[in-house]
Parts: sequence; structure tokens; C-alpha cells
Amino acid sequence: GKKGEKKVHKANFEIDLPGAAKGKVVTRFPPEPSGYLHIGHAKAAILNEYFAHEYQGKLILRFDDTNPTKEKMEYEQSIIEDLELLGIKADQTTWSSQYFDKMYELAIQMIKEGKAYCDDTPQEQMRAERMDGLKSARRDRSVEENLEIFEKEMKLATPEGLKNCLRAKIDYKCLNKTMRDPVIYRCNLTPHHKTGSTWKMYPTYDFCVPIVDSIEGVTHALRTIEYRDRNAQYTWMQEALHLRPVYVWDFARVNFVRTLLSKRKLQWFVDKKYVSNWDDPRFPTVRGIRRRGMTVEGLRNFVISQGPSKNIINLDWNIIWAGNKKVIDPVAPRHTSLLSDHLVKLHIDGASESVEDKPKHKKNPKVGTKKVYYSPNVLIEQQDAATIEPNEEITLMDWGNVIITDIKKDSTGAVLSLAGKLHLEGDFRKTSKKLTWLDAKHNIPVQLTDFDHLITKDKLEDGDNFEDFLTPQTEFDSSAIGDVNLKDLKKGDIIQFERKGYYILDHTTDGKLVFFTVPDGKSVNKYSQ
Ligand code: ATP
Ligand code: MG
Ligand code: MG
Repeated sequence: GKKGEKKVHKANFEIDLPGAAKGKVVTRFPPEPSGYLHIGHAKAAILNEYFAHEYQGKLILRFDDTNPTKEKMEYEQSIIEDLELLGIKADQTTWSSQYFDKMYELAIQMIKEGKAYCDDTPQEQMRAERMDGLKSARRDRSVEENLEIFEKEMKLATPEGLKNCLRAKIDYKCLNKTMRDPVIYRCNLTPHHKTGSTWKMYPTYDFCVPIVDSIEGVTHALRTIEYRDRNAQYTWMQEALHLRPVYVWDFARVNFVRTLLSKRKLQWFVDKKYVSNWDDPRFPTVRGIRRRGMTVEGLRNFVISQGPSKNIINLDWNIIWAGNKKVIDPVAPRHTSLLSDHLVKLHIDGASESVEDKPKHKKNPKVGTKKVYYSPNVLIEQQDAATIEPNEEITLMDWGNVIITDIKKDSTGAVLSLAGKLHLEGDFRKTSKKLTWLDAKHNIPVQLTDFDHLITKDKLEDGDNFEDFLTPQTEFDSSAIGDVNLKDLKKGDIIQFERKGYYILDHTTDGKLVFFTVPDGKSVNKYSQ
């Protein structure tokens, strides 16, 4: 698909958002600008957009920028570009940081109503108290004392302010641990990428999201299911602040085997140079999978077909790539490449030098034509040559039959060269070998690169350290030659090399076109456990 291109996909499910009315639904996609979008984010973005438009409502793109330590302008820019690439257009773009004044006021209101308190309990102790359902020694501070600390100490990040955080006074013994007086404001001296050093304390996710959702008119907040325990807290916040309630709709997080979808862990691979960057073809980022040959249509189809499932599953990549293959196969031009290490010369009596236009796709004339160079001297792969018997009749694809008259082998049995005679009257349906070949003169150097998953374990468990499961080799390069028509391809074009599979042109190195294998859903893992 082209940039920004959008197709309408009919979902194979019917879901009704509870209480949704045509023209009134407002959804939001709230990425934190702390990394590049990955396939999980793409799912969230596409689903939000799907519902907004299904109900002729509105989609808000909201940068959830409340933690300056992790956030950067670079990430914001990349998120905008990636959404555009996915054909997702938000009706409105906002930033949580726009509401810092408003959230500050609301925090003061909460303190005044006795629903929040400042706490300087050391972090470790606070964590332990929350685990054990114990009351903080600071829970009964007076409103005046709380206001004093929040407005004069925390706001200015004084030494005293830095020791404190603001906590919602909900229920320190609640069975649902997320309700045990969560932190709603904390100091941070790192300058914010949008508000600079105006603020020295920031609302937490738990405080910010219910407020901004309500203020922005969101009707349905789609959240991944692992936040379900936090739904009670979300509702509590809106009630405590007398804000319009928002309906929370949970959907399953998507996970893939042998894949990390945490921005923090992906950052580790970038920092350690295990990958080239966030757009590395081994990465599950939108950019990474696009570079690997995932089409926008393939990705959207996948997300919509996954739809409303609430079961968190560990998906096999083959599912999404098989779907992508259905998108690329009808339009991918067919080309030829042969692995360089194993080339065998075939001399063909009766052949002369000529060039002809042939369809790039036998079933789809719209794909156009390519030049096929014929010659008495052609090359085939050793792997094919080794199977040929004396006097066998074979078929050269896009050409015709050849009867093999001579086979020269070395002492190890490897074929050195072949000779044959052209037999165009021969019936290609009667031969068992349809071989790819190239004119010995008209071909160009290419490189074929395949990749493996970055980690060796299908599903990392809670106690696992991903650094213990790094795949030793994840890139595999082969030198090859290809037909001259490849010169006309552009970066990002997806083709099929006959009898090899689908490839995407990535870049050129030392005059060689470098193609990456596009997984087709049938590939097997190189490393099994
Ligand atoms: P990470 O752990 O990589 O930082 P995150 O959830 O913290 O992910 P956000 O930028 O906050 O990243 O996510 C934006 C939206 O994308 C959220 O609504 C979140 O629920 C959703 N999302 C993130 N990961 C997945 C996933 N694996 N599957 C589905 N949705 C996801
Ligand atoms: Mg998040
Ligand atoms: Mg996160």
C-alpha cells in the first residue's frame, strides 16, 4: 500500500460498543511518546479508529506525556509518521500536558475535599505497606498541611517536596491493590519536552487518564485487559472529581512468540547495537515490520480480524504473515535470482541471443512486463544441476525445453557444467523440472538477507531475563545474481523471486541490491528450542 492509502475493511465480527450512538462516539489512542510504535500499539490505534468511524464519531490522538524522563520529541514525530503510514487519521490531536494546569487545580480540589494526602514515606516502605494493606503514617495529615506541602514544596520541588508524593485516599486495605491509595502526583526535575521546566511535579497515569478522558469528551476508553484491576480506580477518580463518567472497554493485548513488545526492552536492543535502530527488520515496530514487507492492508486485516477478543494469546507470526501473503501475492512482480556460490553454466545449442518482453505476473497482466534475455550461455543453480540426468528434458522457465546432452562433474560429484540443445517443440507439461535461469551476460549482483527472531524462547515467563535468551545469529546474508529488470525497483517494492519466495528491496550496498525475505507464513524458525 501507498503512504496514507486507506481501504475499507469489513470486520468479520459484529461488536457493539455499549451505549454507543451514531455520531456520538469519541475514542482515543493515547501513546506515550517514549518509543516507536509497535504492532501492539498498531492494534490499539486501528481498533480505536475502527470504532470511531464505524459509529461516525471522532478519534483523538493523545500524546500521554506526563513522564519527562522517558519522553522525547523524536518519538512524537515518529508516532505521527507511523500513524499516517497506517492510514490512521485522527480527528484531533492533543497532549496530556495541555491539562497540567487543570490537573493541578483538580488535585487541590481533591486535597480540600479530604480525598488526597501528601506522603513522605520512603518508597520501599510505601510499597511494602501497600502490599500488606497498612495505613500510611501520613494518611491523616490535615487539609492545611497537605495544601502547604503540595503547593509550596512539591510544586517547587524543594528538598521537602522531593521527599513527598500525593496519594489518593481511597482504601488502603482494599482487596483490589490498585485501590490502596495510589500515587497521583510526583516530583520530577527533568525538563519536559513540551512544557520545559514550568512544572517540577507531574500527574501519574492513574490520575491523568480518567481526567483527560472525561474532559476531552471521550465516550469509550479502550484499554488493554491487564488494566482491568485499575478500572475501579479509574471510575473512583472521576466520581471523586465530579467528572463525567467514561465507559471503559477492555480488549486483549496482542503478544507474539519470541517477541518483546516493551519499549524499554526494545530500547535495550537499540542501545546494545543488537539491531540497527527502531526500524530494524527484526523489530516488531511498525517500521520494522513494514521494512520486512508487511503491507498496511495486511496489518489492518489482521487487527480487524483479531477484533474484540479478550483472551491474551501468544500469537505465531506465521498468522499475520500468511494474511499478508494474500495481499502481496496477486500483485508482486515475478523475478529471478540464483545463489552465486553455486552457479553452473549451461550451454544451449540452437539458442541465439535475443530479448523479449514477458509478463511479470502470469495471472495479473496489470503488473506489466519485463525483459527476458535469451542466450546460448545461461546459468542455473548447482542444487538444480545436481538433479539432472543425462538425456533428461528439462524446462527453463519463461523460455522452453532443453534436452541435456552432456554433464561434467568434478571428483566430488558437483556439477561443473552442462550442455544441451534447445527443444522448443517440447511440451513443458511433460517435464518434471521447471528451472530458474539467467543469461550469463545479462544479470546483476544482489544480496538476499533473511532474519531470525531476536530471542530463542517462545514465551518469556515472569522470572525470565530476556538477556539470557538472545538468539546467537539473527541475520543471514547470501550473495546472488538477479535479472536486470531489478534495477527498476524502488526501495520498499515487494517482489517474488520465482521458486524462492517474497522479497522486499531494502537498500543498495557496494552496487548490490539488498533484498530482505518477506515471511510468507510458512517459514520455520531457524533455531528451535
Ligand atoms: P510499552 O510497555 O511498550 O511502553 P505501553 O502500553 O506502556 O507499552 P503506551 O504508549 O502507553 O505504551 O500505549 C499506547 C496504547 O497502546 C495503550 O492504549 C496501550 O494499551 C496500547 N498497547 C500497548 N501495547 C499493546 C499490545 N501489546 N497490544 C495491544 N495494545 C497495546
Ligand atoms: Mg502506557
Ligand atoms: Mg509502558
